[in-house]
Amino acid sequence: MPFRGQDARHLPHRALRSILCRGVEVKRNDGNRPDRYPSRAPCMWYNAGAIARPGFSSIRSECSMTTTLLDQLVASSTNRFQELYGRKPRWLVAAPGRVNIIGEHIDYNDGFVLPMAIERYCVIAAGETPGNDATLFSVATDEEINISVAAPSRHATPGHWSNYVAGVLAGCIARKLRPAGFQAVIESSVPVGGGLSSSAAIEVATATLVEAMTGASIEPVEKALLCQRAEHEYAGVPCGIMDQFASVMCRADHLMLLDCRSRHVEHIPFGDPGVTVVIINTHVKHELANGEYSRRRDQCQSAARKLGLNSLRDATLDQLESQRNKLDLVETRRARHVLGEISRTVAAAAAIKASDWPRVGELMDASHDSLRDDYEVSCRELDLLVDLAREIGPPGGVIGSRMTGGGFGGCTVSLVETEKLDEVAQRLAKCYRDETDIEPSVLTSRPARGARVVRAG
Ligand code: ADP
Ligand code: MG
Repeated sequence: MPFRGQDARHLPHRALRSILCRGVEVKRNDGNRPDRYPSRAPCMWYNAGAIARPGFSSIRSECSMTTTLLDQLVASSTNRFQELYGRKPRWLVAAPGRVNIIGEHIDYNDGFVLPMAIERYCVIAAGETPGNDATLFSVATDEEINISVAAPSRHATPGHWSNYVAGVLAGCIARKLRPAGFQAVIESSVPVGGGLSSSAAIEVATATLVEAMTGASIEPVEKALLCQRAEHEYAGVPCGIMDQFASVMCRADHLMLLDCRSRHVEHIPFGDPGVTVVIINTHVKHELANGEYSRRRDQCQSAARKLGLNSLRDATLDQLESQRNKLDLVETRRARHVLGEISRTVAAAAAIKASDWPRVGELMDASHDSLRDDYEVSCRELDLLVDLAREIGPPGGVIGSRMTGGGFGGCTVSLVETEKLDEVAQRLAKCYRDETDIEPSVLTSRPARGARVVRAG
C-alpha cells in the first residue's frame, strides 16, 4: 500500500488511479477520516421520476446526451396532476437549476460569480381548491404533504423538502401576496442534491406559482432574496445569493455575471455553437459537505474581520501579503482563493466576450487548483474527473474543466469543443467508471432562461 495515509489529491493521476481501483484507504487532509471506496459507491442523489434520467444520460452503453425538454416535463406533471386530482391544472410554472462556470464560494464573499441556468427545471402544476391548505405532491419523493397557506409552518422533520415551499409561501404572505388553497404536483428534472441547485429551482418555482395565482409580480431581485431567505430560515441552509438569482434572472444563450455585493447583473452572450458546456456528475456526496460549507463561511468572515474589512471583496492581494501576520495559515489560504477567484471570474467574463477560449480554459483550470489546494473543498472524484479532462486537454477538445458547486462531490463543469463532444464525453465517463466503479452521468446544456409561467390560468 505505497500511498496509504497520503493525501490523494496531490498524487499523480495514474497513481491515484491505482489507489481507486484497489479501494485503498486514503486519509484526507481535512477530515482526518479515512475514506474508502465501496465496490459500488452509493448514489447519493435520487431521480425525479422517469423523466429525470434522460436529462443526465447514462453513457454506459452509448453516449447520447439527450435534452429533457421542458415540454415533456410539463406534459408529465400535467398528467400526474390529472391522475391525482381528477382535473387539468390551471397553472403551470417552471424554474431552472444552474451551473456555475466560475466564481465558486464567492457569493457569500460579496464578489463576482458567472453561472448560467440549465435546461433542467422544477415544474409545478397547480389548481385551486376550497379551503386554506396547499396540498403538494412531489414526484421525486412520492409524497404528498399539506401546508396551511394562511400560516405556513416548518415541517416537524428538519430538512424536509416541504420547508423550501413553506418558506417561500411565508415570504410571499409577508409581502401581502396571499394565495388561496391549492393542489399541486412538483416534478423536477434538476438532479436533487447534485450541486445544480434543485433547491433554488423548487423555491423559485413556488414563488412563480404564487405570482401566477395572485396575478401579482415580484420584482426579480426581491423574488430571489425572498427565496434565499426561505432557504436560510425554513430549510436551515445558509446559502449565498447566486442560485436564486440565476434561477430567476438568467437569459437564454447568456451567462450571468452577478456582482453579489451591488446585485448588478450583466448578461454575457454565450451562444457559440462551437463550444458546449458539459456537466459530469461524480455521483458522490461526502458527508462533510454541509458542515464544511458553514466552516468556510466563518473562516472568510474571520479573515475579513482581522483585516479590518466587512468582507474579503474589499481585500487586495498586496494587503493580504503585507498583513499576513494577522491571519492564521488556513485563513490566508481561504482569502487567497477568494481574491484570486474574484479576479478570475471577471477575467473569464472578459475572455468569453472576446471568444478567447484558451484564456477561459486557463482560468477554469486555475479555479479548480485553488478550490482544491487553498479552499480545500474538492474531493478525489472531482479531482479525478478534472485530471482526466486535462489529460485530453485542448488538443482533444477540452477547453477547461473544474469542480462546480459547493464541492465534496457533485459535478464538474467543462467547456468542450462541440465537434469533439461525443469522444470527450465517452472517454471521461469510461475512465471515471473504470477507476471508481461509479457510473457517472453526463449532461450538456445550453444556457437557459430563468423562471417563467408556462400556463397562467
Ligand atoms: P442542490 O440544490 O444542489 O440540488 P440541496 O441540498 O441544496 O442540493 O437541495 C436539495 C434539497 O432540495 C432536497 O433534499 C429536497 O429537500 C429539496 N428538493 C429539491 N427538489 C425537490 C423536489 N423536486 N421534490 C422535493 N424536494 C426537492
Ligand atoms: Mg441547493
